[in-house]
Parts: sequence; structure tokens; C-alpha cells
Amino acid sequence: MRADRVTRQIVHIEDELCNGCGACVSPCAEGAIEIVDGKARVSREELCDGAGFCLGVCPTGALTIETREAAPFDHHAVEEHVSALPSTYIAQRCFQCDTSEDDRALLPVKVHGTSTWVCTRCLPALIHG
Ligand code: SF4
Repeated sequence: MRADRVTRQIVHIEDELCNGCGACVSPCAEGAIEIVDGKARVSREELCDGAGFCLGVCPTGALTIETREAAPFDHHAVEEHVSALPSTYIAQRCFQCDTSEDDRALLPVKVHGTSTWVCTRCLPALIHG
């Protein structure tokens, strides 16, 4: 292994399953995913922290977490990258109460096979019925 590489978790995108919908782009707080030629890509390894918040929103199951040799996650690179992104981010909303992620934390969930977002207040009712 090269000295500047580490073995760690990182997002893996299955090309055959990706339909290029772009749903995984905005949930990535690090801006690590972009759509290139109709397919999602981790643009730079050091931007992906491997937390996997993008996994739940993918409608095709194209996203997984793998453990492999990669560049280490780099907080400074993320700060520079995110600050240079155009401010086109659209806040997600809870599918139950319509609360914006600006006002309450949202989590990705699948409901009847559809990927969506639920806020922390509505989540218990979703779990317990
Ligand atoms: S959400 Fe899934 S199918 Fe859509 S672009 Fe991302 S990886 Fe591809």
C-alpha cells in the first residue's frame, strides 16, 4: 500500500444499477458525488467519509459501502470543495409533516419501496405505526 493510502470504508457505486437520477448528490454533505455521463461517481476519494447517508435515497440499490484501499478522508479538502460549490442546494422536506431539514434533522428512509426523507419527530410513528 502506498504511504498516502489507507484501508477504510468508502461508497461504492454499481454502474449497472445506477440510472443517473442524481438523488444521491444533494444528501452528500461533502459534495463527493457527481453525475458524469449519466452515472453517479465519487468525484475524489478524499471527499467521501464513507458514512453512507446517500445509500438510503438510491432507488435502485446502486450504492453500497465497501472497505478498500483509498485516499484518507480529508476535512480540509471537503471545506474547500463545498465552499466552491454553487449554492443550488435545495433543502429536503419530511414526507409526513413537510418540515424542512433547515428546521429539524431528517433521515433517509424507504416507504413502500420509495426512497424519501422523514424528520426525527415523525420517525417514531413510522417505526411503531
Ligand atoms: S441515487 Fe442511485 S441511481 Fe440515482 S444517481 Fe445516485 S447511485 Fe445512481
